[in-house]
Amino acid sequence: MARTCNLYCVYCHNPPTGEKRDILKTAAALKKRGVKAVSLEGGGEPTAGGDFFDWIKALKAAGVRRFMLSTNAVALADAAFCRKAVREIEYFTVNFPSHREDVYAKITRSVKFRMALKGLLNLKALGAEEKIRFFHIISAGNYRLLPEFAVWAARNFPRAAFVNFTFVRNKGRALKAARIVPRYTQAAPFIKLALAALKVNGRKAVVQNIPLCVLKDFEGFSFEFQRWRRGDKVLEDGIDPKAPCAACARCTLKDACCGARPDYLKVHGAAEMKASRKDPLAITPERF
Ligand code: SF4
Ligand code: SF4
Repeated sequence: MARTCNLYCVYCHNPPTGEKRDILKTAAALKKRGVKAVSLEGGGEPTAGGDFFDWIKALKAAGVRRFMLSTNAVALADAAFCRKAVREIEYFTVNFPSHREDVYAKITRSVKFRMALKGLLNLKALGAEEKIRFFHIISAGNYRLLPEFAVWAARNFPRAAFVNFTFVRNKGRALKAARIVPRYTQAAPFIKLALAALKVNGRKAVVQNIPLCVLKDFEGFSFEFQRWRRGDKVLEDGIDPKAPCAACARCTLKDACCGARPDYLKVHGAAEMKASRKDPLAITPERF
């Protein structure tokens, strides 16, 4: 539904094209399929097009009852907009790449940090803190600050549903700036500290798009591992399949792991992938 965005994130892997989807046609198609729940996301920022509530109205008329929203929270700085959104949205997945204004500015190439933070605080003030799911993309611009972010999130939003750390994908705009993809081995110690900090504070956390061998002893936080444990396909629809990799072929964790990511291999190769002998059934899934 989105066609534009009010930020210009350096890692945006699905940037807006400006192409406008027909609201009524989309609603009719969903009605025909009997869709009852939708996630408003993709191709930009859903709240930035000026027709956000028109979409909700049309989709509700088509029978949709549950809405999730992926947002950068900038539009939620407007208290009236935020109040209206809270009445409609079950979960807000908030792309918030840093709790530090200078880092946020570099990553999003914007001066909207305070608006995004105000959006988060408005959600909290409106009693919707439990509806917040932090979506924190791990990039070269913020990986050293992951533990600090974890402590910040636990302190300031102790009732948020969870924190999702997702390793940056070398796609879309990121392809023009591959330097923003850190090495797994550089980022891993900070990722582990951040996950531990959230766990110690009683918060739920998950990490996505990073191989299990890189998460050694923290595998239970892996989103893909948790999917496998639930009996789901390990990779979500729309995610590139695993790349061929000699270490993966020998690894006992291969069914439960996102495997070698083809976009990552283009930047840093496969040298960090290490075949494991662990039994995936012996790994305890963390709370999520
Ligand atoms: S990542 Fe999200 S917030 Fe950032 S530019 Fe892309 S659509 Fe906008
Ligand atoms: S070697 Fe491959 S399959 Fe095994 S944990 Fe690493 S990336 Fe996953």
